[in-house]
This record gives sequence, structure tokens and C-alpha cells, in this order.
Amino acid sequence: MSKAFLDRLVPSYIKRFQAYIPAKPDDELCRIFGCERLYRLNNNENPLGPPPAAREVIRRFEPFRASVYPSGDAFHLRCELADRFGLHPDQFLVGNGANEVISFAIKAFCEKGDNIITADKTFAVYEWVATFSGFEARLIPLKDWAFDYRGMLDAIDEKTKILFLCNPNNPTGTYWSRELLCDFLDRIGGRQIVVIDEAYFEFVEEEDYPDGIELLSRYPNLVVFRTFSKMYGLAGLRIGYLAADREVVDIIRRTCVVYSVNVLAQEAARAALGDEEHILMTRELVRTEKAFLNRELKRMGLQCIGDQGSYLMIRLPMSDTLAYRRLMSRGVMIRTMTGFRFPNWIRLSIGRHQAMEAFIEALETLLRG
Ligand SMILES: *Cc1c(COP(=O)(O)O)cnc(C)c1O
Repeated sequence: MSKAFLDRLVPSYIKRFQAYIPAKPDDELCRIFGCERLYRLNNNENPLGPPPAAREVIRRFEPFRASVYPSGDAFHLRCELADRFGLHPDQFLVGNGANEVISFAIKAFCEKGDNIITADKTFAVYEWVATFSGFEARLIPLKDWAFDYRGMLDAIDEKTKILFLCNPNNPTGTYWSRELLCDFLDRIGGRQIVVIDEAYFEFVEEEDYPDGIELLSRYPNLVVFRTFSKMYGLAGLRIGYLAADREVVDIIRRTCVVYSVNVLAQEAARAALGDEEHILMTRELVRTEKAFLNRELKRMGLQCIGDQGSYLMIRLPMSDTLAYRRLMSRGVMIRTMTGFRFPNWIRLSIGRHQAMEAFIEALETLLRG
């Protein structure tokens, strides 16, 4: 049968959109690249895994419960988040990863002709969801590796609904200080929604780094994203959330389909939340391994950035996609940055020392040609 219906039925912005191609599973990759083991250093996962209490919840999960629907609104988790952050449970909305709450927010506020504003080199999902939903994504070039305050403000027009700020930025590791952020929010003055994606919040120790959740009472147009995928090591279970003013959450909630967050994720997240020791141990590992990498990369004469977060960006004297293939054949998986509009750069997730040594060794061999 002819597929002429596709031409007629598919919106032009979907025709133009290229689907994201996820990495293949480890066994497939090892087969393709001929390596025996694989260090996955492409997704900023926590090398220490989930905190002990969350592991225990997962181990003890009663299999029969797989047949029962989860809480549709993550009731207990929201209550515990509320206690922890001194907010009302209705100020939280839990999703199937922070990725899902990005799409909730865009659906709730944007209609035909609207735009969102973010950076050209940041977490790409804000741009993707806007684009494949038929909205314009205005991408403001980074300035000194960071979100450009002036550029973002200048790009606002009457059709702008949301500004997305990734703080600290993935992949550059830069952040806006509390002063800069508040100044920005004061200038916006409640005319648009401002989303601050704090996926790496728990990694940052700088004095002047702002806590978006603390600012919610001052700025009712502020929406904060957090996730259990990074610091809390639960990326495989898919759970993240947003926090905002109650009326704002009430609006965003209208766009979400219930039951997208599974029961195991909800319970593991409750157990993981606030494990300070796990946070301290992870920070220590990241600090130590970043110092090691900085030394090694300097010795090799390579430029690298990434002060905050659990990742580094490294500039290579060659194509990043070629480097990807060569590193893969030595069992090291990194993220190419061409897709983030950083050709010849790679992003490396901070892992255990053995993985970091394997990366440096593979990179040296690669650069020797
Ligand atoms: C990893 C990441 C997310 C998404 O996290 P999930 O909860 O796993 O969907 C969102 N924003 C940034 C900046 C991230 O790096």
C-alpha cells in the first residue's frame, strides 16, 4: 500500500525532526566494537550506584506488587519532599525522569506560535520537546561557556512562554550565582515562566550557588527541576520531579498522564532522598577523579572545562565521532559533543579511578595515532 498518507498527515515540524538515536546495549556494543568490557562514561551516572537504603528497598521488593498500579501522584514521595524542603506536597510534581517533566511544562504553557528560550549548548531536551511539538526554540549562544544573561533577556518577545536555564550547565559545568539569578528573575518580573534545571544540584558546593527551591516563595513564576538519576544513582528506574508555586503546579499537572512513575522508582527514591553520606562520598569521588583527570589532561596538553557537575568536557585535536569509535574499541564510552554543537569536544562522566585510568590510557594511545 502507498504511504502517501504520511505526507498528508505528518506536520512539517515532525518531518524535519531527526529522532535521537540511543546507544545500543552493552553486549551489542562489545560485539560491534570487539571489546571485552565497557566503561560507560557517557550518561553522567553515579559510579557508586544508589544509596544503601534504596538498594535495600529494591532487593526486598515483593514481586507480586508488580501487578498493582503505583500511586498515580507519588503521594508519599511528595509528602517527604515537602517535609524536606519546607513546602506543601502539592508544590511537587513527579515524573518518569526529569525528562518527562520538561515535556509537562512545555505542554502546559505553549500554544501555536509560542517560543521558548534556552542556550545553544546545553541539555538538548528542552529544544527537542519544543521543536517536535511545533514551537520555536530560541537558542542563545553561551558566553564564556555560561548562559548569556543579556542575550536571553534580549531574545524575549510577547510569544515567549518559558526560559530554560540549566544550573550548573550540562555539559560546560558553569553556573549562575544567586545574585545573577535573582537579578535575572527580577528583570523577568513574572512575565514568563523560568525553569531552572538543577539535575546536578547535589554536586555543587560553591557558596554563591543558588538553591532554586529556596527562591520559590519569592518568584511564583519559577519552576525547579531535580532528578534521582544523577546523585541518587537511580537513572535506570526513571524518576525526577519539579517544584513550583501551588497554582503553577496545578496548571502543569493537567498535562501529565498518571501512572508514568512506577512503584519501585517511587519507593527507591523515598529511601534515597537525603542520604547525606552518599552525597558526601560521591562528591569526594568526583573531586578526586576530576583532579586526577585535570593533571593528566594538562600533561597531555589538552584543554578541558567543567568546574561543577559530575562530568568534564575535553577538546580533542581530532573529530569527536572518530575518537568515539576508537575509544569504544578500547572499551571506553564517552559522549560526542557534535550533537551539542561542540565539534571536536567530548564529554566524560566522572567514574571510579579504574575507569578514569582506562580512559586516559585509551586516549593516549589514540592521540599517539
Ligand atoms: C540527566 C539530566 C536530566 C534528565 O534526567 P532524568 O531524570 O534521568 O530524565 C535533566 N537535565 C539535565 C541537565 C540532565 O543532565
